[in-house]
Parts: sequence; structure tokens; C-alpha cells
Amino acid sequence: MHGKNIQVLLKELESNSQFGLTTQESENRLSLYGKNALKEEKSKSFLNLFLDQFKSILIMILIAAALLSAYIGEFTEGIVIMIIVILNALVGAAQEKSAGNAVKALKSMVSPLARVIRDQTLKEIPSELLVPGDIIELESGNLVPADIRLIQSINLKIDESALTGESTPVEKNAESEIESNAPLSERSNSAYLGTTVTYGRATGVVVKTGMHTEIGHIASMLEGEDEATPLQNKLNVLGSKLGIFCLAVCVIIFMLGYFRGMPLLEIFMVSVSLAVAAVPEGLPAIVTVILALGMKKMVSRHVLVKNLSSVETLGSTTVICSDKTGTLTQNKMTVTKIFDGQNEYSVSGSGYNRDGAIEGDFNKENLEQMMLAAILCNDASLTEDGGILGDPTEAALLVMAEKAGYNTKKTTEKYPRLQEYPFDSERKMMSTMHKIDGQPMVFSKGSPDSILKVCDRIKIKDNILPIEPYSEIINQIYMKWASSALRVLCYAGRQASPNADVNHEESHMILLGMSAMIDPERPEAKKSIKTCHDAGIRVIMITGDHGVTASAIGKNIGLLSGEEKAISGSQIDQMDEAEFISVLKDADVFSRVSPQHKVRIVEALKKTGNIVAMTGDGVNDAPSLKKADIGIAMGITGTDVSKEASDMILTDDNFASIVGAVEEGRVIYSNIRKFVSFLISCNIGEILLIFVSMLMGWGSPLRPIQLLWVNLITDSLPAFALGMEPEEDDVMKAAPRNPTDPIIDKKMGISIVFQAVGLSVAALISYRIGYAIHPDFANTFAFITLISGELLRSFSGRSETKSVFKTGFWGNKYLNLAVIGSYLLTLAILTLPFM
Ligand code: ADP
Ligand code: MG
Repeated sequence: MHGKNIQVLLKELESNSQFGLTTQESENRLSLYGKNALKEEKSKSFLNLFLDQFKSILIMILIAAALLSAYIGEFTEGIVIMIIVILNALVGAAQEKSAGNAVKALKSMVSPLARVIRDQTLKEIPSELLVPGDIIELESGNLVPADIRLIQSINLKIDESALTGESTPVEKNAESEIESNAPLSERSNSAYLGTTVTYGRATGVVVKTGMHTEIGHIASMLEGEDEATPLQNKLNVLGSKLGIFCLAVCVIIFMLGYFRGMPLLEIFMVSVSLAVAAVPEGLPAIVTVILALGMKKMVSRHVLVKNLSSVETLGSTTVICSDKTGTLTQNKMTVTKIFDGQNEYSVSGSGYNRDGAIEGDFNKENLEQMMLAAILCNDASLTEDGGILGDPTEAALLVMAEKAGYNTKKTTEKYPRLQEYPFDSERKMMSTMHKIDGQPMVFSKGSPDSILKVCDRIKIKDNILPIEPYSEIINQIYMKWASSALRVLCYAGRQASPNADVNHEESHMILLGMSAMIDPERPEAKKSIKTCHDAGIRVIMITGDHGVTASAIGKNIGLLSGEEKAISGSQIDQMDEAEFISVLKDADVFSRVSPQHKVRIVEALKKTGNIVAMTGDGVNDAPSLKKADIGIAMGITGTDVSKEASDMILTDDNFASIVGAVEEGRVIYSNIRKFVSFLISCNIGEILLIFVSMLMGWGSPLRPIQLLWVNLITDSLPAFALGMEPEEDDVMKAAPRNPTDPIIDKKMGISIVFQAVGLSVAALISYRIGYAIHPDFANTFAFITLISGELLRSFSGRSETKSVFKTGFWGNKYLNLAVIGSYLLTLAILTLPFM
């Protein structure tokens, strides 16, 4: 594709660079070439999931037991065992199916969109639906959605490390002519799926999609099953320990039975059922289901979590590092102050509403150059219906210019842009070049620090004067504005030589003016930060704004008190590792931070044992997002690259949603503890019951089918319901848990032993009483007591800290249903004659 002339290629692809494909044609091609995905999401059918349930050794043994029973003539016994096994498998498969569906639905929500020309108009569609011949647009921050040949490019740079391993972005140019046998890394007129645009823009035509792309050929890159989460690993270990323990018990029970002369078959059945009882091999599967349901629930709290492990990690977060702009604040910028070099003016009006005015008697001519810079050195636009497109900071400048009497749309059309040197949060400024009255002009805007650095003159009325005498007054006004939490921008400009490259023009400029804008805090920010502090979670605010602005906002939202000040990026640069770590212990606000500082912050925090959540939106934020334990991307303002690098995405860009997700993560973890504790105490109770009884020579208090019934049916329903327990009101009151803590800690261990002994003693006594009344009753007595005990115990499992009399009985509707269901089922098998 890179060796051909672009016109020839477009012809071959039967496409048109202006009009794109028609919807009809794209549908035809979609069915011909398939979806633009590296591998079709394989989702297991219900039948497969059902069959999978039979892969476990225990189930195999059970089936063998059923066959054996049938073989020696115990047909009912055999059939009942099979029914229980099948019922259990059905429930298991249904749970996994619904968990799988939930995860799949989420995955499709995070899949990136592509901007494509279809039916002659620019649309956003899921990248999956791209076909060869589609004309797409790319800009900085986008993932390249397919293999494309560039048609047009402006300052385009692409990070191809995913494909070539080369970590510095390579320059691309649509015009370059490439030999058809050139290696991948030299094909500068093409862009490939899996790479990312780090700079500039382009249009291109899709040539290859899905498995036909270069990355599609590299099969090894496509592997990557969902790994087990740390919790699931822990449960697996726990499961095998319990398994060995239980095997030992089974052997002893088998021998006891043998020496007491019980029939071999019966001992075998009791041992098998006990094995089923004791091994919590279903635990990891239930955990998956509960994590997946948690993921689904988080969607309603504006959080998309990309993998199950993160749901778990969230609950143990100790620090949240959050961007200020847009996450803690509303990103609804309004310019409130202007300085024209001589006078200061207030601007009225709020939000993006254009009715408002520059107050006082300002001279439009004095402001002319500054307004032109604000309008032209700007990528945002105002829409007819009063809305905005693009960066809120830039849109605010357009609104300011409208208030000053400019028609921003007409002005932009009148002075088209010749070149641009885009904004980035490293330089904190941007520049553009325009033809004004026949003369090329450069305009820049950015943070006062960056702009003042490149200015040596200032425009005051019609005079151009050296800047020195004015620096002080400019700084005074700047600090005054910043300390009332305003974001300040400066404007500069000058003439350029006709063939200048704008990237080299940022020097010897003339300061044109200054403006300040307010970005109100999100009303819920302060409360959410308080919630974090109560929950032992630190909140660190990170911003590119000036320290004084950052400190003012930090105070407003309760991150800084009294005299505390923000630490700036340049201060960080001067600290060595040890110093930085000690400063980081109690610095909660960082200002004038660039993306590398964020990486340093994450690294230092992790080094000191923190579990770090970090937000980010730009291309340069990807490294810190990846480094963080939980990288959080912005759903609205975030780039594809940041979304790709993150573990979760905020669909409303709101800090409060992060806190909600942490809370949800904690609830899920505590629920997992609840059902683990419940299941294990019941299982151990059953083992004790049988073990003691056999030891005493009383025979097995439960028939094998009864044991199976208890374990596979009546236990599992309430256990699952405990996993769905609603939130307790104190989840955000305790300190974060240590992720290395074992799942069964001392407290849970004691409670398990206590519950298990209680259950087994009760069932044993009831067994003996039943026996005394009539030996035929004994089993049923023990059976009913055990089930009742366990079902009642499930209510006390609803909280680890509060007694059931405090939590109340009926707060968990799933549990109520599960308990009633289990009782009814049990009642049915006890009373219905055919059962
Ligand atoms: P934040 O993460 O707080 O949004 P940024 O890195 O985006 O910080 O911005 C840092 C500084 O750069 C701002 O304080 C402002 O002075 C300046 N700035 C922000 N956006 C723009 C823009 N679009 N054009 C020029 N300068 C900008
Ligand atoms: Mg920003």
C-alpha cells in the first residue's frame, strides 16, 4: 500500500478521498472482509459453559458414585445424585454466562471510535466497523484504527512502539514516496493499526483491517487471556489447602467406617460427599461472578472498569492523584478579567453565554491585537445553539471576544491559519501563523510564565515598548488574579518572515495582553475529598496551573489549610529521590506539573507502599496511567491513548465518581469475605459433624445425598446472596485494607471456628435426639437442623462487625429469597412423596 501512488490506490479501493464510502457499500465490504477486530470476541455458549462445569474432578467422582449406586441397584440414589449434579451445573453455567455477558458489554463500551467520512459526511463510528476504502481522520491522541495510507498530513508524528519496538515517535508525511519493499519502520506515508498519533493531524484511507493488518500478522501479540485476579489466586491456594486437609479427613473417616464394619459402598459415598462438601472449589468462580456484577454496577456510577483485577485493587486504594481541571473543577471556563497592558477590566456574564460585556470604557483598538490572538490562536469553536466545541479554556476565549464585539467565526474565516505549533502541557503554550493584511503574523498564547519568557516587548496603545519596566506590574496583576483561583493566560504576537517555520518563531515577541478565567469547583468535590479523608485515603491534586491558582483552589476544596502551599514542578526537579519522598509525605497539591512529574509522583508513592490511583487525559499521560495501580482516564475529554493505557474510565470526568468506585470496590471485597466466611464455616461444620459422629461410633448423621443437597443447593444460594449484600454504612470509615493481607485473617478464622463448632454440635445433638425417638428419624433430624442452622447463620453473615440484631434480618432481598427458596426446596424433598 505504501509503494503505490495514492490516486491509483484510491481507485483500486474504489473510494473517494472527499466523499468516502456509502453506508450501503461499507456494509457490503463489512460482510466481505469481516469486522475490524484482531480476534473475534469468543463468547462461550451456555452449553459449553454447562459442559465446562463437568470438568472438575469432584464432579467426575460424583458421577462415578451415581453410576456405582445404580450398578448395585440403588437407582433412586443414583438418579438423585445426577439431578443434584445437573442442577448445580445449570446454576454455575447461568452465573458464568451472565457474568461473561456483563464483561463483554463493558468491553464494547470502551472500544474506541473512529472519525470516518461516510455518505459524504464526517461521522464517529466504532472502529470495529471500518472497512477498506473508508476515509478517516486522525489527530493527536487517537489510536490508529486500521492500516491506512495517508492522504494528507500536518506535523504528523506516530508512536509505533507497539509494532516496531521503536519508542520515539516517528514523523509521517503523506507526500513521501516509498519503495514497495521498504521495511515497516520506513513507510512514512502509512500508519498502522495499534500505533498511536502523538502529534499533528491527518486524513487517510483504510487499506487493511482486522486480522489482515500488520499487527494482525503478529499472532503472538494477540494472546492474553484474562488473568486471574490476586484474590482469585489467593482463593485457589486456599482451596487446595482445604482440599488436602479434607482428603486427610476423608481417609480417616473411611478407615473409621471400615474398622467399624460399615458397608464399603456407604463409606465410599460418605467420603465422596464430604469431599464435595469441604472443597470450596467453586469459590474462584463465584468471585468472578461477583466482581463482574460489581463492574456492571459501577457503570451506573459513571465508571467503566476494564478488568476484574482493578475492581479488587480499587478497594485497597490509599492515594488518589487527581487532575484539577475538569475533574475537581467543572471545566466551565469563563473569562472574568482582562488587562490590555495599561488598564484592567472586568468581564460580566457566566458560563458560555455570550451576553455579557467588558465593563468600563475600554478602547477596542487597544485590545484588537490581543483579541485576534485569542480568536486565531485557538482550536475551539462556538456553535449556533450556544454550545461549544473543543477545549473549554479556548472556548472561553472565544466567548470573551464575542463579548468584546467580535464575530469569532467570521474572524477565523478572514484570517486562515497557515501553520500551527500546537499546545502541549510541557511547553504550556501554543502558536499559530496567519496572513494578516498580506503579512504573515505569529500569535501565541499560554501560561504567563511561558509567554513572558519569549517576549521582549510590550504593546501599550499604539506603542511597542521594551517590556522590562512593565514586568513588575504584570506580575502583580498575575498574582492578584491567581490568588483568587483564576487561570491566567498571556497573549503575544509579531510579524514573521514569509518562509518562517512557526516552530522556530517563539522568541522576540510582543506581549499583547492578559486574561483570567474562573473554573468553578465541582460542587461535590469538597464532600468527596472529605469522604476520602475519612476513609484513610489521601487525595493529591495535580495541575498545570500556577502555584498560586492551585493553592487557592486547594484551599477551597479542603486539600490545603492555612499557610500550606502547592509544590511546583520545578521544585520537584530540584529534589533528589529521598528529599522528594519526604516532601511527598504531606504535600497534597502540585502545580505547574508536566506529565513526567506525574510519573515521578506515582513512582515515589508506590515505593512508599501506596496503592495509587492516578487520573490523566492527554497522550503524555499514558506513562503515568500505566505506572499507577489504577490508571483512570477521562471519558469525555480524554484521548484514545489515555483510555487505552488506563484501567478504568470515568464517563463523567468527575472526581466524585472515582470515590464512588473505590467505595464500590470496598463493598465488593467485603462481600466476598462474607460469603467466603459463610461457606467455609458451613463446610467445616459439616466435616466436624460427620467426623465426630463417626469417631463416636454413631455412624454418619447425614446420608450422602443429603450432604450433596446441603452443599450444592442450600448453601450456595445464600452464599451467593451474601456476595450481593448491600453496602454497610461504614465502608468509607475504615482505613484501606492492605492488599497483602490474607483473605482469612485471624478475626475471620475465629468466627469460622466458632460458627462451625456451633453448627456441628447442634446437628449432632439433634441427631442423637432423633435417634432416641426412632433410629429412622435420626438422619432427617440432623439434616433439618443443619440446614436451618446454616440458613439462620447466613443472616449473621451479613456484617462482619455488627450483630444481626443491629443489621436487622431482612435488609438483603437476595438473601431473603435465597433462604426462602432453600427452605421450600428442602421442604419439598422432605414431604413430597415422590421425592
Ligand atoms: P491542567 O492539567 O490543569 O489543565 P494544562 O497542562 O492543561 O493544566 O495547562 C497548563 C497551563 O497551560 C495552564 O495554566 C494555562 O496557563 C496554559 N494553557 C492551558 N490550556 C491552554 C491552551 N489551550 N492554549 C494555551 N495555553 C494553555
Ligand atoms: Mg488542560
